[in-house]
Amino acid sequence: MRELISTMLSHRTTHANEEKAYFQMLEKFPAWEEVMAAPVEELTQALAPAEFPGAKAVNIQKALRIIQQEHPDFSLEFLRDLDVPQAMEWLMALPGVGLKTATLVLLFNFHKPVFPVDTHVHRISQRVGLIGSTVTHDKAHKILLDMLPKDASVLYNLHRHMLKHGQRICTWRNPKCEVCVLQDLCNYFAEVRQKGIG
Ligand code: SF4
Repeated sequence: MRELISTMLSHRTTHANEEKAYFQMLEKFPAWEEVMAAPVEELTQALAPAEFPGAKAVNIQKALRIIQQEHPDFSLEFLRDLDVPQAMEWLMALPGVGLKTATLVLLFNFHKPVFPVDTHVHRISQRVGLIGSTVTHDKAHKILLDMLPKDASVLYNLHRHMLKHGQRICTWRNPKCEVCVLQDLCNYFAEVRQKGIG
């Protein structure tokens, strides 16, 4: 539940603000039943550090109602026993849950062989040339997964490394190509940096 709700909050929001919103929500409404039953304006206020807190408050409450109807203890443990397509279908039927959230929940918590494409993975994949410049996040999930071994440990490690690489080296503004270990493999470096265009 922590991964699911946090990732729902993360859309267009920094990690620091996502955490702030999550803990502010739990401070005010310490149980999922309380989050679900809270006046939406109060929940929106608690989620204010995240972007689009009103829409997120509505989606979180709707998702919690669906989860509670099927699993009154709010445990998502049943996902462990589902295969990937079934688990993805169940998660993505929840309001506000897309491919990124569903794959993060399944890889991080249930060790399922999926590959979450967040903003860092997407940007690095485009710059290096693993995907084309017009490939969307949603399409990138399948394209990248098709290239990779279906081993959850490998997928998890790659995702974590790409996340860190995107936060520290291949940043959105002014990527630090001069210290990057991927220079020799990278289209952006060959086509933009080395030619002095960017
Ligand atoms: S060489 Fe530059 S653009 Fe390419 S992956 Fe490294 S930091 Fe990113």
